Amino acid sequence: MARLLIEEPPCAVVCRAEQVSVLNLTDRDGWIFDMDGTLTVAVHDFEAIRASLGLAPGLPILEQLEAMPEQERLPLFERLDSIEMEIARRAVPQDGARELLASLADRGVMLGILTRNSNANAAETLAAAGLDGYFDADCIVGRESARPKPSPDGVLHLLEVWRCRPERAVMVGDFLFDLLAGREAGTATVYLDTPGQRQWSEYADVTVNSLSALRRHAFDTSHSDGDQP
Ligand SMILES: [Mg+2]
Repeated sequence: MARLLIEEPPCAVVCRAEQVSVLNLTDRDGWIFDMDGTLTVAVHDFEAIRASLGLAPGLPILEQLEAMPEQERLPLFERLDSIEMEIARRAVPQDGARELLASLADRGVMLGILTRNSNANAAETLAAAGLDGYFDADCIVGRESARPKPSPDGVLHLLEVWRCRPERAVMVGDFLFDLLAGREAGTATVYLDTPGQRQWSEYADVTVNSLSALRRHAFDTSHSDGDQP
């Protein structure tokens, strides 16, 4: 297995790939982004949200709600939507998000969002963060539009909309579920690891600690020939 580590303080890029071509993101036609914590700064206190909804700590919120009878589930989903909308209105972009999206848009790639948030909250979040201009409405895939990550359904949905093969696409996210969804769908995976803990790096083809590092990597053709020192 080829491994590539580029230390570029204060930014680092770590690549892992069975095929060198995975390291090269310069020719990907479709880029799919997680939203919260990836394109926007992570502000969700999921344990507080779970407590507010009366859910068990440490377990995914959507899956806990889906396991409930409808009469219990629906009011809790309304409350979740309300909590998330309040958070959405305060969204700020991740450092380097605008520059990365603008560069990719200039290159003419297709841009999509895949989030476990609702479609309405996703639109509100992107607007508040000033990132809404980069995404067509049908390329913002929330939990009503596809089974939530780690299911690959949302990735596959976007690939179908774009008529794009998975090996021509990349999934970018800050959490395990983003990487699992991309891998299952067959795309390259990029792990945005701003804390630098490499917690999920084994599930990613490329690990970056900033979106500006990803932008440099995505436009750098020098790594297409093989391992770097
Ligand atoms: Mg996230």
